[in-house]
Amino acid sequence: MKYRSTRGNAQVLESAEAIIAGIAEDGGLFIPTELPEINHDFLKSLLSATYQKCAEKILGQFLTDYTPAELKQCIEKAYGNSKFDTALIAPLQSFADHDNILELWHGPTSAFKDMALQLLPQLMSTALVKTGEKSEIVILVATSGDTGKAALEGFKDVDQIRIMVFYPKAGVSKIQRQQMVTQTGENVAVAAVTGNFDDAQTGVKRIFNDIAFNEMLKSQGFQLSSANSINWGRLVPQIVYYFNSYVQMVSNNKIKLGDPINFVVPTGNFGNILAGFYAKCMGLPINKLVCASNANNVLTDFLRTGIYNRQRDFFKTITPSMDILISSNLERLLYHIGGGDSKQICSWMSQLAEVGSYNVGADYLTKIQSTFWAGWADDKQTAAKIKAVYEQHNYIIDTHTAVAWQVADEYKQITEDTTPTIIVSTASPYKFNDSVLDALAIDKKNADEFDLLDTLAKYNSAPIPIGLANLRTAKVLHQQICTKEDMINIVKTVL
Ligand SMILES: *Cc1c(COP(=O)(O)O)cnc(C)c1O
Repeated sequence: MKYRSTRGNAQVLESAEAIIAGIAEDGGLFIPTELPEINHDFLKSLLSATYQKCAEKILGQFLTDYTPAELKQCIEKAYGNSKFDTALIAPLQSFADHDNILELWHGPTSAFKDMALQLLPQLMSTALVKTGEKSEIVILVATSGDTGKAALEGFKDVDQIRIMVFYPKAGVSKIQRQQMVTQTGENVAVAAVTGNFDDAQTGVKRIFNDIAFNEMLKSQGFQLSSANSINWGRLVPQIVYYFNSYVQMVSNNKIKLGDPINFVVPTGNFGNILAGFYAKCMGLPINKLVCASNANNVLTDFLRTGIYNRQRDFFKTITPSMDILISSNLERLLYHIGGGDSKQICSWMSQLAEVGSYNVGADYLTKIQSTFWAGWADDKQTAAKIKAVYEQHNYIIDTHTAVAWQVADEYKQITEDTTPTIIVSTASPYKFNDSVLDALAIDKKNADEFDLLDTLAKYNSAPIPIGLANLRTAKVLHQQICTKEDMINIVKTVL
């Protein structure tokens, strides 16, 4: 299986090379040149498989330049060693009225980013050995919260790789900040940037684009790379849980093998739901993929009208991980929908950059709508859903999951589709405890986020995740603060 760019240049790479590079030379995203297809027997063979075994089988379809032994070892390091707090890795919770919740937050940082960021570092360091790459890889991350910690946790103490995370000083929650500044590991660095997320992001982009600096790094044996969801190595691990949750539905007697199901996915950068699209293309019986957004509903509008328009107000919501107006991974979907029309993609992407919008027209839209449906929920609806679910099921969900659940209800009501449905749950409620307690109308008594973990634990049957419970007393190891202009000097100093 080879990889090429959505924007059509001649570069054709093995998966190991694509994972090290992150993004294609022409600015496009790497996509597989063909999509593997599975049959009934393949699906059946997953029924008795562990999550790890399932991952070996799916990854083996895409990462054909890795040996089975290499994949097995990467997967073992990612999902073995009790790094996840359940042997199922991604357990399915089912409720009486046909609601099935896929919990993707049992990893070390309590958000779904762990599903991919535990594995990406293993795939990358194996790729370095396979390709004979001798330079030390320096991963630079600008984070609005969840990605930074998950990347730090995944890359810590991985050979031949260093990681530096920049977070906006005033833009992350107390828990998110504490998760990052207490990070252990010999190869990690964390700094606060004065300003907002855009300042941190701009600073990182500036470093990537500084040719002289990159040349200097190269001469000293370093190469910059990225760990965000444009990297194929972050997308492919996510395909696994679509298959794994499907067979859990079969094992739990919710469906018979071969029956179609729907997934509802709380969406920001379109990475999670795109993995579901790949699963469907491979032959997993998926009827609809429902894209759930918050008030930053650029994707809802796009999936309803075919017009992507990022020129709109940006809202800060109680679902910060979905506060995004440019969903990078949509480019991959458009590539596959159009049968690989790179010229068309280039034209739309430059329209997006120059005028802020593009229109894919009726043909693309019809094809997209045969798989996707879209809806959105505002903060008020989101909070109401948390309360309603708690009252009905005695089960506490986080804000992002609540957006998906709300949209799932709306979808069923409007379409009258009765296909069994999985709602994808992307964060532990403890991680967003402040908003969750507000939604449940529980008095916070002016307590800080660390004390609020205990408050929420009184109502939640699930215990406080270890990674969060230890935070309050963890030692602060990273205190650097810089301006966005100064970020490059931090990189120099650390290296
Ligand atoms: C990142 C994130 C999302 C959005 O996922 P995308 O792959 O960017 O669409 C949703 N919920 C949570 C909690 C996240 O951390």
